[in-house]
Amino acid sequence: MGGMRVKYKLKIKNLIMITMLASMPTLLDTTIANADTIEDEFLSVINKYKIEDVVVEEGISLEKGEILDLSQYPNWELSDNETIEINSNGIVKAVNEGTVFLSQRIGEKVYIVEIYVPSEIPTINIVSREAKPRGYYKVFIDAGHGGTDPGSLGCGYRESDINLQVAKKVESKLKSKGIDVKMSRSSDIYYSLSERSEMANNYGADLFVSIHQNSAEQKSANGIETYYTEKKPNDKPLSNDIQTNLINKTGAINRKVKTANFAVLTQTKMTAALAECGFISNPEEANKISNPTYQDKLATGIADGIEKYLKENVIINEIQMTATGKVINANSLNVRKGPSTSFNIIGTLNGGDEVKIVGKSNDWYKIEYNGVYGYVSGSYIELNTTEPDQDNKINFTDVGKDYWAYSQIESFVEKGYIDGYEDGTFRPQDPIKRNEFVKIFNRVFGLTEKSGIVFGDTKDNWAKDEIDIAVTNGVAQGVGDNKFEPEQYITREAAAKMLANYMNIEDKNHDKINKFSDYNQISDWARDAFEGNLEKGYIQGTDEGKLAPKSNIKRAEVVTLLSRVNN
Ligand SMILES: [Zn+2]
Repeated sequence: MGGMRVKYKLKIKNLIMITMLASMPTLLDTTIANADTIEDEFLSVINKYKIEDVVVEEGISLEKGEILDLSQYPNWELSDNETIEINSNGIVKAVNEGTVFLSQRIGEKVYIVEIYVPSEIPTINIVSREAKPRGYYKVFIDAGHGGTDPGSLGCGYRESDINLQVAKKVESKLKSKGIDVKMSRSSDIYYSLSERSEMANNYGADLFVSIHQNSAEQKSANGIETYYTEKKPNDKPLSNDIQTNLINKTGAINRKVKTANFAVLTQTKMTAALAECGFISNPEEANKISNPTYQDKLATGIADGIEKYLKENVIINEIQMTATGKVINANSLNVRKGPSTSFNIIGTLNGGDEVKIVGKSNDWYKIEYNGVYGYVSGSYIELNTTEPDQDNKINFTDVGKDYWAYSQIESFVEKGYIDGYEDGTFRPQDPIKRNEFVKIFNRVFGLTEKSGIVFGDTKDNWAKDEIDIAVTNGVAQGVGDNKFEPEQYITREAAAKMLANYMNIEDKNHDKINKFSDYNQISDWARDAFEGNLEKGYIQGTDEGKLAPKSNIKRAEVVTLLSRVNN
């Protein structure tokens, strides 16, 4: 070591700046790198050093045409000379698809950074608000590092082990909430970064969360931070929800939500976050994050953050149906908590047993089972055929006569206020768009007067006239910037606001909404309106006793809401 003392910052990733120079991908003939090759390459790098000196960074992705500025530490050793070019100033350019490992001794530690150059810029999803055709959420949990890649080492612990311990706790907490979970690994095994994102993409997860522990040259560094990538700016709310819940549960130092182009964040097609749960390099925090009780707090924070995000952002749709059937082709049939074999078994049925079916999710039936709901595989159920139901006037396959809003839906359909779908469904649990809502509203109240009001985003919309009518009659307003956002789903608070505008029922005395625990989540502009609606009994609390102002209002709820006013 030289005489000059160098002041090191935190991890190298905080020094890495990526500048987008050009966004034109060059599509070359690509070979899919197989895991063995990548792991072999990784081993050839890590084996050059003493394992206790090594810090394996969270790997990053670099698209062809992007420049990575490593000028603070220019002298990197490369595991191959084909994937990237690096000049003497530490400026990195991606040249070919593939994976390369950069390593360098800085102070007491050897840093290894994996750079993944994808074959092409991945299609990043514009967050899809379409209802998922299933009755449950799908979450991918990635325990960072593993196998020959220990991540950071500190205080006698391996990051990869702690990541897996926390990830398994998150998995079981999510499953107990009825959420379907897939893990990148459940044991101490190596997977490349591209394999991890590919697994999540193939699974079709609603969201992806990678779990890591932090490390810094400065032993005193501590606390929790959560990352998303700026390439998918819509992912930020997930990181916010996870970070907030992690801090609430642990009381750790809040290092806030940050951005980085970690490969697992950029290469996954769904909303993604990466949580750094604490510093393995800080002796006090290393003891905490390796302790099962503290890990449980971390896992609860992550799982609660995930659940909050899912409930507010991902719409799932279970088809409702009413039928009876019996168990066939099996002596005994497992009844599970959710509609796939990854859910816990809550009981068994015997061959020939009769079942009452209330819903369907993919190939699974939702049934009534000992006073609760359970799921059975559709392959083992034979539906009983029944006489056509003469009393069922509206005949939607998903709205039976015992559906809670049957009579209101029947009445609205008969009056022509709302329609079903061509496939014979009504989709009562689906959200409803702002343009559809005002159309129904206009019909229910018989509004027809127009004044030629057009917004920038309504002039080509099918509901241009309906929106004109709604605004002319004081029901709705634009959302600023000459926009109406006709294709956005309408929230409970926005529906409450429109109804309050029209009925003139706003109320400044918030004694009714104050009684709900999520009262603070109502937007300022909607509080008087929500109060007025509750006062009149138009809008009611949800089954969970919440106001859920930011949740999308469902089709069946729209019908019942407007029925109450219209009576
Ligand atoms: Zn890590």
